[in-house]
Amino acid sequence: MSSRWLADRLSQFDSSGIRKVFDLAAKLKHPINLSIGQPDFPVPQAIKEAAARAIAEDCNGYSVTQGIAPLRERLLNDVRRDYDQAERQVLVTSGTSGALVLALMAVVNPGDEVILFDPYFVMYPSLVAMVGGKTVVLDTYPDFRIDVQRVADAITPRTKAILFNSPANPTGTVAAEQDVRDLAELARQRDVLLISDEIYKAFCYDQPLASPATVNEQTLVIDGFSKTYGVTGWRLGYAHGPADVIDAMTKLQQYTFVCAPHPLQWAALAALDTDISPFVNEYRRKRDRLVEGLADLYPLATPGGAFYAFPQVPDSRSATAFVEEAIANELLIIPGKIFSRRDTHFRISYAAPNETIERGIEVLRRLAK
Ligand code: PMP
Repeated sequence: MSSRWLADRLSQFDSSGIRKVFDLAAKLKHPINLSIGQPDFPVPQAIKEAAARAIAEDCNGYSVTQGIAPLRERLLNDVRRDYDQAERQVLVTSGTSGALVLALMAVVNPGDEVILFDPYFVMYPSLVAMVGGKTVVLDTYPDFRIDVQRVADAITPRTKAILFNSPANPTGTVAAEQDVRDLAELARQRDVLLISDEIYKAFCYDQPLASPATVNEQTLVIDGFSKTYGVTGWRLGYAHGPADVIDAMTKLQQYTFVCAPHPLQWAALAALDTDISPFVNEYRRKRDRLVEGLADLYPLATPGGAFYAFPQVPDSRSATAFVEEAIANELLIIPGKIFSRRDTHFRISYAAPNETIERGIEVLRRLAK
């Protein structure tokens, strides 16, 4: 297709960095793959069976836009209990990504500002651009802590939302409870919508997640099943928050995604009864091993959650150049530039077999010397 057909918004997108990594990776025979942002454990059997049963029992048509009643009721119960708020509303979405798209479409007018923290999840700047918003990026290096005073200083009359993610992709950082409280209070005082992406909340290794929604009931929480149950291909997420925002997102879903995949919503209901703590414990051990394997050679903020670590390149090489060298040594990792204005760090996903992690540590120790 000729580029003359393409809309102006496309000029905001650049996926060349990550494509380059994947092009290089495609040439590898026995890659040590620490690049993938999804769990490596198999989907628990009960969840698979619930999906198969729903398909066999003909739950294959559309569902109501807001999600099947039993799943919505279950999520509402859990959410109202966990966040201690009787008024929260829930919408089941096509992935967490779908919830993010709907949320930004629902609240951002062209020219509105959205505050992001750098490093950020790769989709955030593009999603903001897609709805005509302007990103205001706050750097959080080297410890990836949120400086709430800097957020306060960045808020202008055009600020519509703050996009916050803990545990975070790509750093694995779990925000400190006091910072989360202060951020939530700030959003309330300045009347800015706080959007809290909690997709990794099951993967907190040192303390449970502090959610800003427990402090500021106007917080919009984005969550999903992809990571918690290893079902990234199922495209199942949900959002909960104030009724007016959830209603607006529901209306938009009706004219875009229509509904989340119907049979898989029944499987999601079964998933909510599945204990994944053995997987979380296993990932904690992987986190510990990776940190132990790298900490003497790489500047590394110990990640408290998700399944990522985000070390700094230990010398003057750019992260892009460093990652090219890693790939030449069969190790697949992602340059930080994909998630950041800086090109100094790289993302490791330790959602991988222990043997792969060991091989990865070996290569990284060699590259640092
Ligand atoms: N938010 C964050 C922080 C993520 O890391 C991801 C997936 N990598 C998503 C949202 C999107 O997840 P989903 O597969 O549910 O769309």
